[in-house]
Amino acid sequence: MNKLKNCPECGKLYLEVGQKMCPACYDIELEQEQIVHTYVRDHDKCSITQIVEDTGVKEKVVLRMLKNGRFINSGGAVITYPCEKCGAEIYTGRFCEKCSQDLLDQAAKLEAKKSAAAAQRIDRSHTMYNAGKDFRS
Ligand SMILES: [Zn+2]
Ligand SMILES: [Zn+2]
Repeated sequence: MNKLKNCPECGKLYLEVGQKMCPACYDIELEQEQIVHTYVRDHDKCSITQIVEDTGVKEKVVLRMLKNGRFINSGGAVITYPCEKCGAEIYTGRFCEKCSQDLLDQAAKLEAKKSAAAAQRIDRSHTMYNAGKDFRS
């Protein structure tokens, strides 16, 4: 069933038929994607910031294209964008290598803490079990 929704771009009411924005904004976005595509074709290695500055296309549009994998097959172009943690230029995933490693370390530490706590719990129930057995015998 089609429903009326507010366009996230311009705020106007529109009938949702699969697109996430009104037809007018969708047209603009298609146009902008084309501009970005042409730009990326001519610039093998560029950052999101560069694309935004040079094409005037909104960053979120470029990011959305990136996340949808729109650049993967465009002739080996390398698009970089800022790491979500430290802002370093990256071209894959959400974080740079350093921050990914930091996150992994943190997760490993958390995991170690959790399993240490679990081991302690097992220890305790083990002791209690033995104590119970001792008591019974
Ligand atoms: Zn709109
Ligand atoms: Zn980082």
